[in-house]
Amino acid sequence: MKLIILCLSYLSAIVVAKPVSLRRNQTFADCLGAANVPVNFANSPNFDTLKTPFNLRTQFTPLVITLPTTSQHVAATINCATTYKLRVTARGGGHSYAAFGLGGEDGHVIVDLQMMHDVVYDSRTTIATVGGGARLGNIAQSIYDQGKRALPHGKL
Ligand SMILES: Cc1cc2nc3c(=O)[nH]c(=O)nc-3n(C[C@H](O)[C@H](O)[C@H](O)COP(=O)(O)OP(=O)(O)OC[C@H]3O[C@@H](n4cnc5c(N)ncnc54)[C@H](O)[C@@H]3O)c2cc1C
Repeated sequence: MKLIILCLSYLSAIVVAKPVSLRRNQTFADCLGAANVPVNFANSPNFDTLKTPFNLRTQFTPLVITLPTTSQHVAATINCATTYKLRVTARGGGHSYAAFGLGGEDGHVIVDLQMMHDVVYDSRTTIATVGGGARLGNIAQSIYDQGKRALPHGKL
């Protein structure tokens, strides 16, 4: 039987998100804070760890790195960044050789999806719905646990 893996980009939430109105004296940080978006700034303890690329030759410094846990966090981050005319980049597994998940240049707002890695397998349709931050290990283990399914892969 055919197994279909459906990778849903949580960035699609932007389509239904309400625009953020710019309040007087509000900053980008205020905007993220108002939406309770988990965020790491350059002075946050985890920032250096979070900005470390897979390929250490491609080092970039983002403006902020958000760690959303819901699609609402993703939508709010994009809306706030749009309001303040900032560049936004999604980061999935972070394995791009050129560190495109960090924007490929300095100053991006990174939407790091590592907390959004849920995998839900529907044995009736054989469709697995996969969070944007899921890695191969998450997917392989989950589809086996939930439906005794497998996909071809190399190293986890
Ligand atoms: C050791 C190694 C081995 C590899 N082997 C293979 C291989 O065998 N086959 C192969 O095809 N590739 C291979 N690659 C390349 C790698 O799979 C690709 O770079 C891929 O983009 C990595 O996915 P990622 O989720 O880590 O992307 P990231 O590095 O997180 O992001 C890559 C790009 O995708 C964008 N992006 C990420 N998530 C989303 C999202 N949810 N919505 C919208 N945009 C998003 C980012 O903004 C960025 O532009 C390998 C890389 C490495 C380092």
